[in-house]
Amino acid sequence: MTLRIYNTLSGHKEEFKPLTPGEVRMYVCGVTVYDRCHIGHARAGVVFDFVYRALKRLGFKVTYVRNFTDVDDKIIKRAAERGISCDELVRENIAAFYEDMDSLFLLRPDHEPRATGYIAQMQEMIKTLLAKGAAYESGGDVFFSVEDFSDYGKLSKRNVDELVSGARVAVNEDKKNPLDFALWKSAKPGEPKWPSPWGEGRPGWHIECSAMGKELLGAQFDVHGGGKDLVFPHHENEIAQSQGASGLPPARYWMHNGFVNINKEKMSKSLGNFFTIRDVTKKFDPEAVRLYLLSTHYRSPIDFADEYLREAQGTLDYLYRAVHRSEKLLGAGAHAPSEIPLEDVNARLVSAIEDDFNSAEVMALFIEAAKTTNMACKDVEGKKGEGGGLAELAKHYAALRVIGSVLGLLNRPSGEYFKTTKARHLADVGLSETQVADLIHSRNEARKTKNFAVADTIRKTLLDRQIEIEDTRDGTEWWVRR
Ligand SMILES: [Zn+2]
Repeated sequence: MTLRIYNTLSGHKEEFKPLTPGEVRMYVCGVTVYDRCHIGHARAGVVFDFVYRALKRLGFKVTYVRNFTDVDDKIIKRAAERGISCDELVRENIAAFYEDMDSLFLLRPDHEPRATGYIAQMQEMIKTLLAKGAAYESGGDVFFSVEDFSDYGKLSKRNVDELVSGARVAVNEDKKNPLDFALWKSAKPGEPKWPSPWGEGRPGWHIECSAMGKELLGAQFDVHGGGKDLVFPHHENEIAQSQGASGLPPARYWMHNGFVNINKEKMSKSLGNFFTIRDVTKKFDPEAVRLYLLSTHYRSPIDFADEYLREAQGTLDYLYRAVHRSEKLLGAGAHAPSEIPLEDVNARLVSAIEDDFNSAEVMALFIEAAKTTNMACKDVEGKKGEGGGLAELAKHYAALRVIGSVLGLLNRPSGEYFKTTKARHLADVGLSETQVADLIHSRNEARKTKNFAVADTIRKTLLDRQIEIEDTRDGTEWWVRR
């Protein structure tokens, strides 16, 4: 068995061959921190977090780099609109980024470089490109010369002549060719600026990823990732710059995640269907959002709608209930495992990952693991404390936990999960915890006195608010019926 990755460069799944056996060096384009993150960012974040976890699960030593773009036209514009410094805006949005991504249980990458920390490396690369004749200086700006790079367009499968004829004419008169892009921009008054051989200025957007990738991962590394929207021009330009400077294509495998649509329409501010991560996690548990994002293969588009998220919440409840039920039975035996003691389940997990990180297939295996765990629980419960079946249950429980850790799900103790999601539900239906407890108490009292009609009415009252009661050996519990 070998890992196969869909490579945007070749347009098909390829067998993965790392540059250094057993190791993966991966660079993923991060966010431009001028505003709060939207769910498109959440998808890219969650997708590559899954890839990171899955590669580690396969036994690779992974070095994962994800950057912050902290100098950019959008940042300068937004800071000016708000009357604050670029620094202040960047600090605020990086803090918000961590709140959002932490809520979705993303692991921190090994390196999180900020562009402004690598100005010297960018200038070095620009100097190399100028020396090689791949770039030219023009009135304090430096441009990459697309004509001189014969591979231009190979990632996005675009034809340079067609691009030129389609380009708007005279956008920038200093450019030799309309496709040429800025490596260095001369500073306008009030903008952040650094000294350079070409005068005071700031870097263009694309050069930062080329410079940071090279500095942290080497001139050539294994995987470069990002959202599909970055294929052109950002990644096309990155290839041009990096390869122009070093002579080597920077990454061997280019991975791109698909778009997020809202109710089958493209998400956009002008259509009014634009959601930030915090808009969505106000309504739904963040782990349910993560579960939903991973239920579709990363390359396919994904449609966001409340009904799908409600469904995901129901699935998450089901998974946590299996954990809750088995931990009650296993007691101290329910420790966090690192291996799956069921050979066939493990083999299926590995083959799903190896098929271009098929998270949808891993998710199906996960739900199946919850089902078999429940069956093992039932078996133990049927033996009424005689201790039979516990070893079997422990195996299924271990499979559930390990698959969960690869997906980055089941991160909280089940008690904590239900406390949070029940409180959220009670707020939605306008009931308090005490009111529910009182109703359950009255219902149980009615049952004791054989007043079944009253007991039934109370049960229905609760059910009208999607509250389902369950009588167990240890008393009555309640759950949210999704
Ligand atoms: Zn980038």
